[in-house]
Amino acid sequence: MGFKRYQLNARVVQDLKKRSTIGIVFYLMVVCLVLFADGYYYRHPGFAREYMFWVSLICLFRLIHLPVARLTKQRFEKLNNHIFLASVALTALIWGVGFAKFLLQEGEAPTRFMMTVCSIGLCAGGVVAFVPDIRLCLVFLILFLMPADLTLFATGIDRPLAIAIFMFVIYLCFIAVRSNREYWDALESEHLLAVRSRELEQLSRTDGLTGMFNRRYFDESYAREWRRAVRGQSPLSIILFDIDYFKRVNDQYGHPAGDAYLKHIGGIILQVFRRTTDLSARYGGEEFIVLLPESLETAAKRAERFRAAVEQTYILHHGEKIQRTISAGVATMVPGRTDHSKILISRADSALYQSKENHRNKVTVWQER
Ligand code: GH3
Ligand code: MG
Ligand code: MG
Repeated sequence: MGFKRYQLNARVVQDLKKRSTIGIVFYLMVVCLVLFADGYYYRHPGFAREYMFWVSLICLFRLIHLPVARLTKQRFEKLNNHIFLASVALTALIWGVGFAKFLLQEGEAPTRFMMTVCSIGLCAGGVVAFVPDIRLCLVFLILFLMPADLTLFATGIDRPLAIAIFMFVIYLCFIAVRSNREYWDALESEHLLAVRSRELEQLSRTDGLTGMFNRRYFDESYAREWRRAVRGQSPLSIILFDIDYFKRVNDQYGHPAGDAYLKHIGGIILQVFRRTTDLSARYGGEEFIVLLPESLETAAKRAERFRAAVEQTYILHHGEKIQRTISAGVATMVPGRTDHSKILISRADSALYQSKENHRNKVTVWQER
């Protein structure tokens, strides 16, 4: 519970505020109804005014504090939360003490009856509203009804009513504890669901072997970048890499060695193409693709840097040194509105084919013939 509370606190406070705001207006309406409906206000103006003053004051304070808390959220979030909790408790205390005073009065049966019904109704509403924070919920409940209940018990004015209110308090306690558990279970499920869906999204865009982006994610991002380049009339470069004679790695050292080498290549790509605007992915079995919002010259230079890095590195698999080279094809264009995005990739692919034709371990730039 502690962990969950810590994680989701801001959300819960937000919920508490949302749930309890409407109640504030009802306190103001109910207090007017009780005081004026049966003319109580004119018979006891002193107490009526005092009660109305305190209830209105705390309600107004809470209504004003809501936007103030929103505006000063950044700097005083904790203080605002404490003020919110204290103002709720104070509302219950003011109402509860007033309720007790009403019950002490001789005569005034209609007003006492109305006050009892309204107080129990408002208290039940408050308990429902404050269910996310069980401590606040119980403090509210006790401050709201117990002053009146203790007064009734102590003075012996109306024992049956005292017992009824006490039973009602116990009943609300049970309901509050149960609803609180349900609230937190629902919140936890929601939280877990959000985490799982983030994980799934991450998985759906990742290549399982190398940990790089997969082709699906690349295609989606490429389509987006293509549209951006069309709008901005800016250059887009594609580099396609293919490991030379990779099949021989599998044949010679086994498939797991081939996998280890693919991971190694993935690692170098992520190192060489690590600018925030670089987008690299595993495009096929032993083919990789990089999208750069750069000129042909820059893209070719960076492809060459990668080619050299691969040539100079190797992995040891069960003590055996595995070293390969890569061939690359680079193509750049400022895409026009009528161009299809596939054209740039197929140009890079034909440049790659030329590298392969031209003894491999090469970077070839696509050129119009
Ligand atoms: P080239 O220089 O013409 O590209 O020769 P190559 O041997 O690299 O090309 P080819 O297309 O004949 O072979 C590609 C090999 O890549 C075949 C396939 O077994 C291997 N391969 C593809 N995906 C994986 C993988 O995930 N793991 C391993 N270990 N091998 C893979
Ligand atoms: Mg290939
Ligand atoms: Mg190959």
